[in-house]
Amino acid sequence: MVRYISTRNKEDALSAHEAVIAGLAKDGGLYTPESIGVTIAPEEILNDSYQECAAKIIRALLDDYTEEEIRACVEGAYDAKFDAEEIVPLKQIRGGWLMELWHGPTSAFKDIALTILPRLLTAAYKKENRNDIVSILTATSGDTGKAALSGFADVPHTAITVFYPEIGVSPIQKKQMATSKGENVEVIAVKGNFDDCQRMVKEAVSSKEVLDACDGVTISSANSINIGRLVPQIVYYYSSYAKLVNNGTVKCGDPVNFVVPTGNFGDILAGWLAKQIGLPIGRLICASNSNNVLTDFINTGVYSLDREFITTMSPSMDILISSNLERLLFMLSGNNDIRISAMMDDLKAKGSYRIDDVMLKKIQSVFKGYWTSEEQCALTIHDLFVEQNTLIDPHTAVGVSAMERYQRETGDMTPAIVLSTASPYKFCRDVLYSITGEKKDDDFEAMDELEKISGMKVPANLAELKNMEVRFTRSIAKEDGLHVIAERMKGLSNAEN
Ligand SMILES: *Cc1c(COP(=O)(O)O)cnc(C)c1O
Repeated sequence: MVRYISTRNKEDALSAHEAVIAGLAKDGGLYTPESIGVTIAPEEILNDSYQECAAKIIRALLDDYTEEEIRACVEGAYDAKFDAEEIVPLKQIRGGWLMELWHGPTSAFKDIALTILPRLLTAAYKKENRNDIVSILTATSGDTGKAALSGFADVPHTAITVFYPEIGVSPIQKKQMATSKGENVEVIAVKGNFDDCQRMVKEAVSSKEVLDACDGVTISSANSINIGRLVPQIVYYYSSYAKLVNNGTVKCGDPVNFVVPTGNFGDILAGWLAKQIGLPIGRLICASNSNNVLTDFINTGVYSLDREFITTMSPSMDILISSNLERLLFMLSGNNDIRISAMMDDLKAKGSYRIDDVMLKKIQSVFKGYWTSEEQCALTIHDLFVEQNTLIDPHTAVGVSAMERYQRETGDMTPAIVLSTASPYKFCRDVLYSITGEKKDDDFEAMDELEKISGMKVPANLAELKNMEVRFTRSIAKEDGLHVIAERMKGLSNAEN
């Protein structure tokens, strides 16, 4: 059985379903597979539907769920909520491929994981015969929030609270969240940035004030720190690889490179896990925006927060503390929890840590880091539209730009797949401006204009936003976060009792 252990204390070990319930470990660490015993050869999934491939991979790693449980979760998640029958289509561009991860209910790649996580969580609860409330606390830089709100709305025995930075998310993202439906949801703006939101949520699980307020309520998380989110993200690396085999681009077993627009390091870590369990991945190219902390880290081995936080047009990647990197370092260190704890303490106390050369070499043997400026991002959006008739969002553009530079610099023409992480319509003002130079104040005008010039249809969930009623307007100071969470827990406890 795969055991999940905390990156900061490996004695803290849980089974898969227990780790899904827990989310973050009490010591602040992240539950990570103790060892990767399973292998899944690409041959095994070549002819599978997305759902069949998902069932195989998720069951192999979350192995204390039964086959029936996993199948029910997968079928409930990947259905007509997605506006593409194949769930994750692959589209050719010059120099590579775009893996379109944004056909789900909120038009963001996070839907892939957040349509299934609530189902995995409910199934875990059934296994334990529990009927207390799981309170999902989620920090979002924009996309996770809406995807989580949509996934958890009115799911029995759950409540969800989303914190987002007041300045930083796009107007469409804000409206998506503020209009969320469901009796069990709450959305709160924070006067701070994403890292402030993430810190609040991480501190809540060990805060005495918060825990004292939890009576019959268990706190969990829908951030990519939950293993139940990470594992479903491995699936699309496999399914898109199979597509390249089936369309004759690669021979089964030959390597493919993946380019991943990266923020919290969850998506790209799922790619690394795919490689560990047997998918022939050559390079993983970590694409960042101007918040290029990961590019510097991959090049130098020093992770340093001594830099300005920059607000960009790819807000889901405006992150300086990439939480999931901790899992990679833990696994590469041979599960050295003491060393990882020390590094994370350094990060907190001094704002930086350094890894040794052995670990750096291991990282550099797989990962390459590139970052893209705002100008280059806009130019990439422009060029893809004008030259290739392909409309992409700013996050995807950061990926495409990284791919182009990687290929130019290294000459490595291994087939490359760029993860396309959001619908261009989620960021329509910036996309329109990049293409035509036209500045619109109103998102919906920009949306219409973009539809007109591209002929690509606006996803239904975004088109209907315009006329939806705003339900949530609360905004708090970041210092008040833990208190606000404690109050919310009290409310849930009273409702329960
Ligand atoms: C979340 C997100 C990312 C970054 O993914 P991580 O798993 O945090 O690295 C990239 N693009 C978009 C559109 C996202 O929503």
